[in-house]
Amino acid sequence: MSWDMLDWNWETFRRRVPSEIDAVILPVGTVEAHGAIPLGTDVFIPLALARDLAPRLHALVAPAVPYGLTNTLLPYPGSTAITPATFQAYLYEAAAGLADAGFRRIVLMNGHGGQSHEVGEVGRRLWAEKRVFSVAIEWWGLAEKRRGEIYGDVVSGHAGVGETALILAICPESVDTARATTIRRAPLRDGVRARPFPASILLEREETHGEGAPVLDPEKARRFYAVTLDVVEKAVRDVFEGWKELR
Ligand SMILES: [Zn+2]
Repeated sequence: MSWDMLDWNWETFRRRVPSEIDAVILPVGTVEAHGAIPLGTDVFIPLALARDLAPRLHALVAPAVPYGLTNTLLPYPGSTAITPATFQAYLYEAAAGLADAGFRRIVLMNGHGGQSHEVGEVGRRLWAEKRVFSVAIEWWGLAEKRRGEIYGDVVSGHAGVGETALILAICPESVDTARATTIRRAPLRDGVRARPFPASILLEREETHGEGAPVLDPEKARRFYAVTLDVVEKAVRDVFEGWKELR
């Protein structure tokens, strides 16, 4: 069976939601320059995680919200942004619509760190105004420790080792491998706020020996994708478990 809500017809939906399935995963991203990986990176990753986790979490996948809050990389070609107020209102109404359709638990699978605040605010409103349970998930925070087990003490960041690995696992043909390790990288520094940011790969700290370069190893990438799925699944399950006492 398909776990994609768009594949279902309304009669199947009426029969099974919420009596049999009351959870839905809503992927949220943005369109943004990402070094040598696609403009759609922040959409592709949460969508892939959602599709692979749907059967494991017994949740449907809602259509993604692909437009988001691109900020310091907006001047890079192909990046797009909408305003925070519009983004938040649209995401809230999309999620509230899913609640009205019958879902009682919503996983906001966010792919972009620059909109954490707004996504969290949507979760707050879903409870305040709809009495719907929601959880916002950010894979990079959850998977960071596990990344070290596979890649060692690398310097990651936006479009860096971790994100490139997931894209390599999800859609390897879309990685510009010739440019991946040579395209400009720059560290985030306290006390420096450049706009545009001076590189499309933003490292979380300085690199001293080139340890911020994306790693193009398909086997490691597959392993990192698998552990990312596992840690995200566990995080959502833990939340679902806690909610049982409240519902
Ligand atoms: Zn990204």
